Amino acid sequence: MRKLDRAPAIRPANWVQVAQSAVPDAAAFQQKAQAFEALPLTDPTRRAGFTAYAPEVLPKRNGRPFFNPLWGQYKEPIAKISHDQCAYCECSLNSKRVQQVEHFKPKSLFPLSAYDWDNYLLACGGCNGPKSDKWPQNGDYLRPDDPAFDPSQHLTFDANGDVVGMTPTASQTIADFELKRKLLNDDRKLFINAIQEQLDLIVEFHALSAQRGEVLARELLHRVNDPRKTPYSTALTQFVAVSISTRLPGVPLRT
Ligand SMILES: [Zn+2]
Repeated sequence: MRKLDRAPAIRPANWVQVAQSAVPDAAAFQQKAQAFEALPLTDPTRRAGFTAYAPEVLPKRNGRPFFNPLWGQYKEPIAKISHDQCAYCECSLNSKRVQQVEHFKPKSLFPLSAYDWDNYLLACGGCNGPKSDKWPQNGDYLRPDDPAFDPSQHLTFDANGDVVGMTPTASQTIADFELKRKLLNDDRKLFINAIQEQLDLIVEFHALSAQRGEVLARELLHRVNDPRKTPYSTALTQFVAVSISTRLPGVPLRT
C-alpha cells in the first residue's frame, strides 16, 4: 500500500448535482443519514446498515432499497489516484471491467460519505470483496490517501511476498482486506524474484566497477519506487532497499 495523492482525481464540476440525483429527495436523505451516523458504531441498528434504517430515502430496485452506483461512471479520474492499480494491494487493473470504485468508509455505515468524492479509491475485487461493509469497532483502517500515511511505519514485506502489520491498524487492515491472500503473495513473490535476479547482476557489476554498480543500484531503486513502472512498488522498494544496504553497504539509499 503506497501513500497516494488524490489531486489527480479532479472532482466533476457537476458532482453536487450528480450526488443529489442519486436519491429521490436529497434533503430527506441528508436528514436521515445524519441521524444514523449519530448512532455509535457499536449500536446494532447502525451495524444493520442504512438501507434497513431508512429505506424510504433510497431509490428501489425490484422493491429493495439501494445506493445508486453513479460513482461507477467515474472510474477514469478515480483510477488516476493509484495509477490504474488497486489502492490497497497495488496489483495492476488493466481493464475497466476489473476496476472497482471502493468506498473507503462503507456506505452502509457512513451514508453521508456514499457520494463524497473524496471517499472513493480504486480497488480490485480481491481487496474490495472481503472488505465490503466492514469497519472496525475501534479505530479505522490504513488510509493510503491520508497525507500523514507512511507505509514504512506500518507494513513490512518479506522476500516471499508476505506482509506483516507493525501496528494494530495495519494488522486490522491486512486481515479485513485479505492482504496476505495466497495468490497475492505469490504474485508479489514473482516480481521480487525478478528483481532479485537484477540485483545479483548489479552486485557482480559492482565487484568490477563500484561506480557503475552504484549507478545501477540507484536506478533500480528509483524504478521500483515508481508505481507507473511496476505493481507492488511498496514491497519491491522495501526489498531493494534492504538488499542494497546488506549486499552493497555504502551505496546511498535515496529513492
Ligand atoms: Zn487489491
